[in-house]
Amino acid sequence: MEGTMVKAVIVGERQADLVEMPIPQPKADWALVKMRVVPMCTEYKAWLRGPRSPGERINALGHEGAGEVVQVAQPCGVKVGDRVVVMGAGPCGRCAYCRAGDFLHCPYQAQYADFTGEAEPTGAYAQYRLGAAWLLPKIPDDISFEHASMAWCGLGPTFGAMQTIGMNALDTVLITGAGPVGQGGIVNAKYRGARVIVAELEPWRVERAKLLGADAVVDPRDEHVVEQIREMTVDGLGVTCAIDCAGVVASQRLCIDATRTKGRVCFVAESSDPLPIRVSADMLRKGLTLVGQWHYSLNDFGQIMQVIRGSSDVLDVLISHRFPMSRVQDALALSASHECGKIILDPWA
Ligand SMILES: [Zn+2]
Ligand SMILES: [Zn+2]
Repeated sequence: MEGTMVKAVIVGERQADLVEMPIPQPKADWALVKMRVVPMCTEYKAWLRGPRSPGERINALGHEGAGEVVQVAQPCGVKVGDRVVVMGAGPCGRCAYCRAGDFLHCPYQAQYADFTGEAEPTGAYAQYRLGAAWLLPKIPDDISFEHASMAWCGLGPTFGAMQTIGMNALDTVLITGAGPVGQGGIVNAKYRGARVIVAELEPWRVERAKLLGADAVVDPRDEHVVEQIREMTVDGLGVTCAIDCAGVVASQRLCIDATRTKGRVCFVAESSDPLPIRVSADMLRKGLTLVGQWHYSLNDFGQIMQVIRGSSDVLDVLISHRFPMSRVQDALALSASHECGKIILDPWA
């Protein structure tokens, strides 16, 4: 496709801007997608920091989206007109991890430029984006672009966690942190019929957790929070499983302490702080299963679409704000304020 397009970039500390660039050209089995919906994730962190040095800019913003295929270079897994979810950039697509759907763990990242001719990947905050055909799963006809775009970081991490720990309607789950990922966790847990206790301290997020259907919200700063959580469980032994979506040592520890003996704990939130785990007390004698889950397996895409189809009303709560991309600066400021669920950008307005 000829011509130019608009994308958002970060040009300074707390400064985003729109720039024009040539529409990228697909090669090999990559396809050009016209982006219709672009959810925001953690890009506000880069916006708060700004580029490494003055004069530089951060060019690749965002990694989520939904849109339609408008151009292919050769016959491949998608065709022009397909409505697709856009995820990630350049895993190889052939190794054992990619075949298992765990493409985020692929050790053989494709050289983006070999396939696209671009020196660096275009982020998702753009009117068009290239994607490898095998990583562009098709959206069922009865699901909107907006709702389908929640498949990635809105619902994906906690969906993956629940698959890994086998969470179902018999569970009472503790979700620590009701940011956008934790909010997605509430949606997933309610869809599966579990009882949901949320630990959150920021008032806006507490209200959102309730709107999304949390059965109870506790304040993690309360010194009796573990006892409070235990009292909310049928036999007083603690929750059967916990998913950490806050990513701080205190929340990780709360998951371990509030989960009953032989329960399962899954860590979803990114964290680089060391978490002290007592092998005897936490793992041997308590028999906890402690696992980490980055995201969901692409092979479960059909099932995540099922969650989306069955959660239509709450997805319109999970999506808390919509902005034209021309107001990306305001959208990033709101994202940094933490008073939001998933914010979605319209790259064409
Ligand atoms: Zn791979
Ligand atoms: Zn994300």
